[in-house]
Amino acid sequence: MNVYSFPQGGIHFTDPTAPPPAESVVAFLPVLSVLPLVQHSGSKALPLVSGGSSVREGMLIGLAQGPGSAHIHATVPGQVLRMVSWKMAEGLTNEGLVIRLKGSFEQLGKPEERFSWEGLEPKELQQCIVEYGIVEMEGPGRPLGDLFASLATVSQPITLVVRCVFDDPWLVADYVLCRERAAAVAEGSSILGRACGVSHIVYAVSAQEKDVGTRLLAEAQAYDIPASLVLVSSRYPQRNPRELELALRAYERRRGKQDGPVEPALGSLLIQGPATLAAVRDALVLHRPILDRYVAVGGSAVKKPQVMKVRIGTRIGDLFAECGGFTGEPQRIILGSPLSGRRVFEKNLDEPVIKTSYALGALLAKQTGGTVVRSCIGCGSCRAVCPVGLDPEALFKGLVFFKQKQEQHSARFGECHGCGCCDLVCPSRFSLSTAIVNAALGEH
Ligand code: SF4
Ligand code: SF4
Repeated sequence: MNVYSFPQGGIHFTDPTAPPPAESVVAFLPVLSVLPLVQHSGSKALPLVSGGSSVREGMLIGLAQGPGSAHIHATVPGQVLRMVSWKMAEGLTNEGLVIRLKGSFEQLGKPEERFSWEGLEPKELQQCIVEYGIVEMEGPGRPLGDLFASLATVSQPITLVVRCVFDDPWLVADYVLCRERAAAVAEGSSILGRACGVSHIVYAVSAQEKDVGTRLLAEAQAYDIPASLVLVSSRYPQRNPRELELALRAYERRRGKQDGPVEPALGSLLIQGPATLAAVRDALVLHRPILDRYVAVGGSAVKKPQVMKVRIGTRIGDLFAECGGFTGEPQRIILGSPLSGRRVFEKNLDEPVIKTSYALGALLAKQTGGTVVRSCIGCGSCRAVCPVGLDPEALFKGLVFFKQKQEQHSARFGECHGCGCCDLVCPSRFSLSTAIVNAALGEH
């Protein structure tokens, strides 16, 4: 089978401090949970409970406030203690409800009751997905209600692309999820496919994890939307929408020249990850919101890195403790991959896991490489790895040393999608991508 990729740049990223792809470990239920009112890209939800209220597992406790917002549900039964706020590394403040675990669970430990979705119309499926507060469980966490609104104007056929691309070892939680919940991912793909009127589902899977793709495709045969498996490279940033689309268009061109059954044109691509699709399935089949998610906990400062199944709202300090604690003083705590995640402000171990937290890292100074910045040695490594064909060195020097404005220097800033490949290879440790992305946003 052919393996598809993007034409230039990229890196093969390995990190021995990421957790191994072993079976997931169920994390302890948190005695105190913190449920943020913003777990997505838009405005915060309106709290429906306050200090002293009792809540049930899965109960609606925060009401979405228009586009960009999603409902928030209690992930454990208990009592609301108070509202808290905390600062995040970007300078933003988040607010959340602190819940003390108390009472019995409605779903945990009970046999699963299965509801049928097959007879529902697309609009009814969409409504149910919105009711359960489902968001994209990666990136900024776009609410799926916003996605449905944006698709209303698409006139081309739509292909749902199930992104199982493991170009970063810190995506191991998605990999373990695909292995442990392949049937749920395939069913969720079919549900979302029907809700969005897609004509075709493509499982885009890293070639080295072909077994995962074969299993997903086999599970997809139970549903009526045609599905295919496309193997793609594991070269970072293969999972970026731009690079993934380049690989899939190459597949489409090659497929058009081959004999065999004619597959529909790919049309417009709707890319979703396996965690989101499993959550869609749980909303429709179990009538439950996102209560937990798979999280990769690791880094050089963590004694026993592992993939954990974690209740949303669990404090990150509790997870590090369950992984055996620290080997030494972490210099940096990161939510997400060290390549693209965000720093936790002042290493605040009370920050909670949210719907988009796929990885959590604690890094020793030797892993962060310190902060010493040297002069550019003109090695050209940044140019060699840029998948877009930019010259990060020239863009960076123009910005930082010559204080050129974006329009004076180059119109190409906007093409940078912030993959961070240039930062990773720069021996002088320049924050090339941050400067370029900020310039594109007009923040320089
Ligand atoms: S961060 Fe931007 S400039 Fe750097 S390699 Fe990626 S796309 Fe190119
Ligand atoms: S990788 Fe760093 S040191 Fe090398 S040319 Fe680019 S900016 Fe200069």
